[in-house]
Amino acid sequence: MTLTSGPAQARHLATAIPGPRSLELMARKEHAVARGVGTTMPVFAVRAGGGVVEDVDGNVLIDLGSGIAVTTVGVSAPRVVDAVRGQLDAFTHTCFMVTPYEGYVAVAEQLNRLTPGTHEKRSVLFNSGAEAVENAVKIARAFTGRQAVVAFDHAYHGRTNLTMAMTAKSMPYKQGFGPFAAEVYRAPLSYPFRDRADGPAAARRAIDVIEKQVGRPAAVVIEPIQGEGGFIVPAPGFLPELAAWCRANDVVFIADEVQTGFARTGALFASEHEGIVPDLLVSAKGIADGLPLSAVTGRADIMDAAHTGGLGGTYGGNPLACAAALATIETIEAEGLLERARAIEELMKDRLCRLQEKDDRIGDVRGRGAMLAVELVRPGTTEPDPELARAVAAAAHAQGVIVLTCGTYGNVLRFLPPLAISDELLNDALDVLAEGFRA
Ligand SMILES: *Cc1c(COP(=O)(O)O)cnc(C)c1O
Repeated sequence: MTLTSGPAQARHLATAIPGPRSLELMARKEHAVARGVGTTMPVFAVRAGGGVVEDVDGNVLIDLGSGIAVTTVGVSAPRVVDAVRGQLDAFTHTCFMVTPYEGYVAVAEQLNRLTPGTHEKRSVLFNSGAEAVENAVKIARAFTGRQAVVAFDHAYHGRTNLTMAMTAKSMPYKQGFGPFAAEVYRAPLSYPFRDRADGPAAARRAIDVIEKQVGRPAAVVIEPIQGEGGFIVPAPGFLPELAAWCRANDVVFIADEVQTGFARTGALFASEHEGIVPDLLVSAKGIADGLPLSAVTGRADIMDAAHTGGLGGTYGGNPLACAAALATIETIEAEGLLERARAIEELMKDRLCRLQEKDDRIGDVRGRGAMLAVELVRPGTTEPDPELARAVAAAAHAQGVIVLTCGTYGNVLRFLPPLAISDELLNDALDVLAEGFRA
């Protein structure tokens, strides 16, 4: 089965970007949609498939964003479309808490099988990443009888009240939206490009802050590779040391794998790269190829600490989303997408490192699998250069390449291509980026 559906797989500029029809729609958006919802590109989509998005003006854009790491197996992947169509004909909703259905149980079984560790596990399903993170914290509190939660510098965990408190960056996520949830504490991260510390040293620094300023929390919550915070890969040894401290102190170790999960980094979950086994693992984004679904999976004794009726939600584990998740997992396994993610890493890192050799504004090239980034700085320093990141992204957008920025300092260009993208499209996009750096 092919991974590609929809438009022809080549970049094509039919108009300037944005084109006239997108501009009309942007004007309607401004009058109809709250301005709090921003857009990376003022371009309206009509079709997408493989590694491209086609807009209302007939432009075909190369997708290096996957709708923020969601359409990892390829947008509207054929197996997903078939599975969701079949479920649509059967039923759209009954509410799992009223009359349950097999799809939910099957997704839970798959998550219990696929997440790190061979211990007895349970899963529970929700709608969004933030909702799942909140529930992981609820479960850890119920299990430990403690309240404090430790999150890290540069963390991103969502936009709801508790997850805003856990998210580090004020603007745009938190400013003006407080007061925030109580009992959330922040520890220093391992950020090799900036702190130059090895993993165990960075872990000791974090553990010292936790022991001295918090004591014994209910949970430590961390992204194994930070997403919005700048695609920061902690130094080797940092995560294992932290997980070991949690185990020794009966603190629940929660991996937020919302962005890193589901084959994105060349492993099914990024925890595997460091050999850690989280007590609870949160997944969302890539789990169901764009249908809203999220999950908490973990140790049966911890998961079952929440009383019956204490977890759930009207839509959580919607049957269409469950059908999509099962087809997404089947696609990853049948199409060898873990290998594909590693091949994308090799191709892109090689080209990005060659760019870096000639350009001292590229301070760091990092990431794993199809979750890669460059951190941009003023030449010869580590001083962030967000203007350059914005300018290169704008140049890429004008040439029909969807690329996102991120990072606490806004100076990181991040690349999250769908694994269904061709090498030709990747190379074309990298040519466009190289030209953007020259201009
Ligand atoms: C996107 C993201 C979230 C929030 O997910 P939503 O579905 O937007 O609520 C949480 N954690 C991480 C690491 C994310 O990347």
